[in-house]
Amino acid sequence: MQAILHHLIYKVISLVLSITMLFGVGETALQVDQSAWNTNYSYVFVHGLSGWGSYDDVYKLMPYWGMFGGDLMEYLNNRGFHTYAASVGPTDSAWDRACELYAQLTGTVTDYGVAHSERCKHERFGKDFTGRALIPAFDETNKINLLGHSFGGATVRMFAAVMAQGSAEERAATDPAELSPYFVGGKGGWIHSVTSLAAPHNGTTAYSDDGKADEQTPLQKALGDMMSSYNNRTFDDRIESDHANYDMYIDNALALNEKLPVFADTYYFSYACSATEKQADGTYKAINSKMEFLFRSSANRIGAFTGVTDGGYVIDETWLENDGLVNTISAKAPFGQPQQDYDADRVTKGVWNIMPTILGDHMSLEGGLFHVNDIKCLYTEHLDRINRLPA
Ligand SMILES: [Zn+2]
Repeated sequence: MQAILHHLIYKVISLVLSITMLFGVGETALQVDQSAWNTNYSYVFVHGLSGWGSYDDVYKLMPYWGMFGGDLMEYLNNRGFHTYAASVGPTDSAWDRACELYAQLTGTVTDYGVAHSERCKHERFGKDFTGRALIPAFDETNKINLLGHSFGGATVRMFAAVMAQGSAEERAATDPAELSPYFVGGKGGWIHSVTSLAAPHNGTTAYSDDGKADEQTPLQKALGDMMSSYNNRTFDDRIESDHANYDMYIDNALALNEKLPVFADTYYFSYACSATEKQADGTYKAINSKMEFLFRSSANRIGAFTGVTDGGYVIDETWLENDGLVNTISAKAPFGQPQQDYDADRVTKGVWNIMPTILGDHMSLEGGLFHVNDIKCLYTEHLDRINRLPA
């Protein structure tokens, strides 16, 4: 009897301690020492497929960044950072989203490019952000830090690539007097850092299992319809390769990686998530306490899928661990690009620094939908880390 009582008391004390520690650790870790910062450039957060940002009315009701845990941007800004939530097309290709991002950052009309719009069969110009730029200034002294969640990862990498290299295709097709400075290139140095968050750099097998792929589409559709009021493009005769979904097939993602290298002016970080665990038979299954129920069936499907893509890429068991929508291995870094596990003493530009894998599902880095995650510490620490890096 006494043993049971002791056990109960021990349990209660443990619970109280763990709650105290939860808040205690949070408060301690949230202190930032601004005197250690070398820079404090603007942070631009770019959402994923079916997502939304601060230009969308729905953001006030439900911030994509923070969700039920409260607006992450406001929290970070109160700690001395300058953070902004961009709004790009929920289902647009990485190219189109990057054009939209440029227009928002510079307060200009979205220019998808003469050559691109002709080839992909849509209008050249889109939304006008004149007089309502997302950030106060953007040039080589007022650099930015980019963070992209999910397909926002390909978006920010595309943006960084065009800023650095411009577009030879657009330069060739456009009257120089009408050419957007974006397509001129030579602006790689305007981007201080890139951080990918659960981004399918090498594609995802959620799209490769064709027979069952429909299972997840209603979820994405429902979330998109519910949350996204912005920029649902009226023209939709776009060619197949000009949609976000296209870039998430492994063969297409690997081809895209060839065009999106790392650049020597920029720091790179990546966070991958996993909310699955290995089973006795070698497959991976959702950890139900960590995985939104909406993702569990796709998690289990990805966790059991191996095969060969149409392009001949072999999907082996290293692809089984996942966050419900993206394979953990795919979110670590684009294959073949310079990369290393994060080591605080060895962070250099032009190399992906792979952060320790987050125990959480695909939406955990947004703050979670029904599984609320406290992400404030994580982002405070990460932004503080970036501000401490040499300029
Ligand atoms: Zn397009």
